[in-house]
Amino acid sequence: MIDDSEAERHRAKMAKRKAVQDAEVAQKTIEKGLLIVNTGPGKGKTTAAFGLALRMLGYGRRVGVVQFIKGKWHTGEKDAFKAFGDQLIWYSMGEGFTWETQDLKRDVAAAEAAWMKVEELIADPSISLLVLDELNIALRYDYLDVDRVVAALKERREDLHVVVTGRNAKPTLTEAADLVTEMGATKHHFSAGVKAQQGIEF
Ligand code: ATP
Ligand code: MG
Repeated sequence: MIDDSEAERHRAKMAKRKAVQDAEVAQKTIEKGLLIVNTGPGKGKTTAAFGLALRMLGYGRRVGVVQFIKGKWHTGEKDAFKAFGDQLIWYSMGEGFTWETQDLKRDVAAAEAAWMKVEELIADPSISLLVLDELNIALRYDYLDVDRVVAALKERREDLHVVVTGRNAKPTLTEAADLVTEMGATKHHFSAGVKAQQGIEF
C-alpha cells in the first residue's frame, strides 16, 4: 500500500526532476544537420541507419542511400523502401567484399564511382538524409582519401543529415562527427554456428 505522504513525496520529487529536465531541454536551441557515425564490432550499424531512413521517410522527406561495399546478399530494406517510390534514391556501388574481389583497382574504381553519387546527392537540396553504408570500410582500405571525404561532408549544406556506417571508423571522421555510436559485440549467434537469417541479417 502506498500512503498519502509517500505519494506526495514522490510527486514532489518528480516535479523537481521535471523542472531540471525542462531547464536542460530549454538550453538546447541549435538546429542542424548531423554527421552521424555508427561503428564498432557489434551488429546493428546498418540496421540502425536504415531505421533512421524510415523515420525520415515517415515525415514525407527524401532519403539517399549509397552502399559502398555490397555484401553477398540482397537486403530486405531495399525492397521495403520501394513502397516509398522516389522519396528514396538507392545506389549500390560496391563490387562485393574486398576479400571476395581480390582486385584492388576494381575496388578503388567502385568506391570512386560511389563517391561521385554521394557528391550528386549532397548537391540535391530535396534530400534530408544520406545513408553512406559501409563508407568506413572504403576509407579503412584507403579506396578513398579520408581528408577529401571529411572535407566534402563538412562543406555540405547545414540542414543535411548524414549517417556513415561500418567498422573501424577513422579518427578524422569521428572527430568531425556530431554523434558517434560504437556497437559492442557482447554476443553474436554466428559464433554458435547459426547461419545468416532472412529478415535479420539480410
Ligand atoms: P547489420 O547490417 O545486421 O545491421 P552491421 O551493419 O552492424 O550489421 P556489418 O559489419 O555490416 O554489421 O556486417 C554485417 C553482417 O555481419 C551481418 O550479417 C551481421 O549479423 C554480421 N555481424 C555483425 N557483427 C558481427 C559479429 N560481432 N560477429 C559475427 N557477425 C557479425
Ligand atoms: Mg553494415
